[in-house]
Amino acid sequence: MLYLDNSATTKIHPQVKDAMLPYLMEEFGNPSSKYYSVAENAKAAVKEARQSIASLLGCSDSEIIFTSGSTESNNMVIKGVADYYSSKGNHIITTKVEHPSVLETCAYLESKGYEVTYLDVDHYGRVNLEDLNNEIKPTTILVSLIWGNNELGSLNDMGAISKLCEEKNVFLHTDATQVTGKIEIDLSEYPGITFLSCSGHKFHGPKGIGAAFIKQDQYEILTKITPLLHGGGQEQGIRSGTLAVHNIVGMGKAAQIAHNSLRSNLNKLVSLEKKINEILIEKFEGQIHFNNDSKNKIPGVISVQFKGINNELLVKKLAPLMAVSTGSACSSSKPSHVLAAIGLSIDEVRSTIRFSMSSFINEEELDVFKQL
Ligand code: PMP
Repeated sequence: MLYLDNSATTKIHPQVKDAMLPYLMEEFGNPSSKYYSVAENAKAAVKEARQSIASLLGCSDSEIIFTSGSTESNNMVIKGVADYYSSKGNHIITTKVEHPSVLETCAYLESKGYEVTYLDVDHYGRVNLEDLNNEIKPTTILVSLIWGNNELGSLNDMGAISKLCEEKNVFLHTDATQVTGKIEIDLSEYPGITFLSCSGHKFHGPKGIGAAFIKQDQYEILTKITPLLHGGGQEQGIRSGTLAVHNIVGMGKAAQIAHNSLRSNLNKLVSLEKKINEILIEKFEGQIHFNNDSKNKIPGVISVQFKGINNELLVKKLAPLMAVSTGSACSSSKPSHVLAAIGLSIDEVRSTIRFSMSSFINEEELDVFKQL
């Protein structure tokens, strides 16, 4: 069975597993404890992992806060900003194509009296800069925009968005879950980004671990937010709880591997995507329609309609041959809000399938498509 649902999650890299195992067994110490070796070793391992993630993102290691994943990072940043800056304003701007961990958090804040603007997007799911500019007002405390869309792969113009938010002096948070470890991110080139969310399992790390980037000032003081989890004061007081050392080590190793192979992985994903596109066009000319853009996208993500075919039935039928999905795994029970927001009809949404690749795939494995 060919695994083509890498936007939902990825297979752990063998080197990641090897790096993690000692921290599940002999090196079991709590990194907040002191002096004895298992604690000091755990602390050193967390430090190294933090450096690997910071290096992947182009930021300082003290700007990395470990969380349980992007769902938590998104909740922490959005609720944390909303609470801390409530005397400054109550307006948040986001888009209609965010992950539920952003949309549901915003809906919750609306129920608490905050005002949320949900920006429309273009035919490929991208935000229009002019629209964003028009919506920013004195009460705006946060702009939260997805960097790379999980269903379509489209990349927002983060350079221009970062510049605008910097000029307007408004915090920018980006959900970078689908782009971290896949495209080059150098946060030093995006001074307008104050917060970023990512998850380890999207780039061959373990599940249940993620991070939030929180920008620091020249005195190395992090941008203030209200913590989501109060307690022992780990992670600079922003995210309490004993650190999941084995998972952190795994995410760090995955970040290091992704960083070292960014270019070659990218080239591989581009060629895998091209090959699948060619096969699909050859076999199903006239019966398919691609929803995704062909440029400015995460390589290796294809969203395609099989006209007149129910996507749930197709995914089920394909399951013995290949693992694909109808869209996001997190909203698989409902028709995609992302595809609806780009203007697809309910029939078009219900005939769409997402193929998402990883660099673990060999081109020869794509021959399975010939059996369709
Ligand atoms: N944001 C995006 C864009 C995602 O694709 C996902 C995972 N599907 C998340 C957030 C949530 O990540 P996690 O489930 O690891 O918390």
